[in-house]
Amino acid sequence: MNITHFLARAASVFPDNPAVSQGESVWADYARLMRRVAAMAAAFREQLGLVPGDCVALAMTNCPQYLEVRYAAWYAGLAAVPMNAKLHAREFAYMLTDSGARVCFVTPDLTETVAPLIDELADLERVIEVGSAEYQTLQSAEPSLEMYPSAPDDVAWLFYTSGTTGQPKGVMISHRNLMCATQSYFTDVDQISTHDCIVHAAPMSHGSGIYDMPHALKAANQVIPESGHFDPAEVFSLCSRWAGVTMFLAPTTVQRLVSHAREHAPDLTGLKTVVYGGGPMYVVDIREALRVLGPRFVQIYGQGEAPMTITALSRECINDTRHPRYLERLASVGVAQSSVEVIVADDNDQPLAANQIGEILVRGDVVAQGYWRNAQATAQTWRNGWLHTGDVGSFDDDGFLTLRDRSKDLIISGGSNIYPREVEEVLLHHPAVAEVSVVGRTHAEWGEEVVAFVVMQPANQVSENELDAFCVQRIARFKRPRQYRFVDSLPKNNYGKVLKTQLRRLLREQATP
Ligand code: AMP
Repeated sequence: MNITHFLARAASVFPDNPAVSQGESVWADYARLMRRVAAMAAAFREQLGLVPGDCVALAMTNCPQYLEVRYAAWYAGLAAVPMNAKLHAREFAYMLTDSGARVCFVTPDLTETVAPLIDELADLERVIEVGSAEYQTLQSAEPSLEMYPSAPDDVAWLFYTSGTTGQPKGVMISHRNLMCATQSYFTDVDQISTHDCIVHAAPMSHGSGIYDMPHALKAANQVIPESGHFDPAEVFSLCSRWAGVTMFLAPTTVQRLVSHAREHAPDLTGLKTVVYGGGPMYVVDIREALRVLGPRFVQIYGQGEAPMTITALSRECINDTRHPRYLERLASVGVAQSSVEVIVADDNDQPLAANQIGEILVRGDVVAQGYWRNAQATAQTWRNGWLHTGDVGSFDDDGFLTLRDRSKDLIISGGSNIYPREVEEVLLHHPAVAEVSVVGRTHAEWGEEVVAFVVMQPANQVSENELDAFCVQRIARFKRPRQYRFVDSLPKNNYGKVLKTQLRRLLREQATP
């Protein structure tokens, strides 16, 4: 079944429901959105000559047309390639070449970056700016095309990994995978009513874009902030305009939301749910978020290869402060979502007992089939029927999974494993520490040594010795950082993830004369 069926269903049952809004105003109801999608899909096939299976790329900041272009591609049987809007021209070029996209849609802010690539990329035939005359022509086509009868395994979304360990890889997310992720949302994450909305404050090329689908299925409103990105003041003002607001945010973005709320005490009536995930949420941070914003949080753990759907920590668990293992649960990523099998495995892919640490493996209908045109990387990651996530963790006796780190972030010092997250959790308890990231630096004798990059709370001072004493009181001596680097901010990507690779590179560069 073509995933655009969700949209068609909403348009026939709730034609007048707001489908997409820009800021405070409705941009299209479901009937209009469906018409526009069908018109554009017909134009893709008839005017642009695209055929089922072709790729259409999106180099777009969040805007209402994001949904129309992406659904139109699916309606016409094409694969969408949503790209992170903050990428460099060379990174766009890489993904456009690798995907073989024939058409790329751009928002005006990205035209200058992407349009010149047409001269150098063999497959790219057109770069079409949203709102341009060419775009309007596509929009005014006759909606004469039937929705393409996609097979479950047809690729719907080529999701490019962030490429921190090499070139980005295109995860082939199928219609079946998206269907399954959508159904799991209702079982494992939250309920949605037709009067609710999602505010796309995070990039729609990532998790927020996946959560468009459960909202479309329920004919709920999709609100795009006027700014096209995350701005806490704007987000809170949208929460007073709209009711039943859900947002998907990275933990680092949740922190920004919380500090704004602490300072400005905004009206929270409209804010229903904040789903957080995509990176570690430290216990001190989620507790502060709950204190300031109330019982509105759900956590998910997923990755492009199993979009948004590996585990979830439910609202009930996050709010059950009287549970004897409340803090452990808060530090976990919750339990396996209903549509996937999740195990913690040894090096032979055999399941380990509770409380033993190993790699997290996943299988189920939400798991993508592999990487686009990359059999070697596919064979490395999909083995013995399991997706190898590259994340390391352990289950407790009740089935709650605690992530330690990505295996590549693990620090091995003097033969002992040190999980940076454990050290980060400790340092964040110090009142002067606002943010921290712990990485390994090559050491001649120990193999690696622990270095902590620390952002201090404004107007706070703390010495290296004080932080060292703080750690010695709380964790084994061998885990404590041997050096503290005080910095103004941590490098993060557009999805709010701390770029540990950059921190490691910095240490390497400074070590070589
Ligand atoms: P991406 O494919 O860009 O969504 O990145 C997926 C990776 O982000 C996972 O493999 C994890 O390492 C990390 N991640 C995702 N969700 C969480 C979470 N809730 N807690 C900690 N790390 C997470």
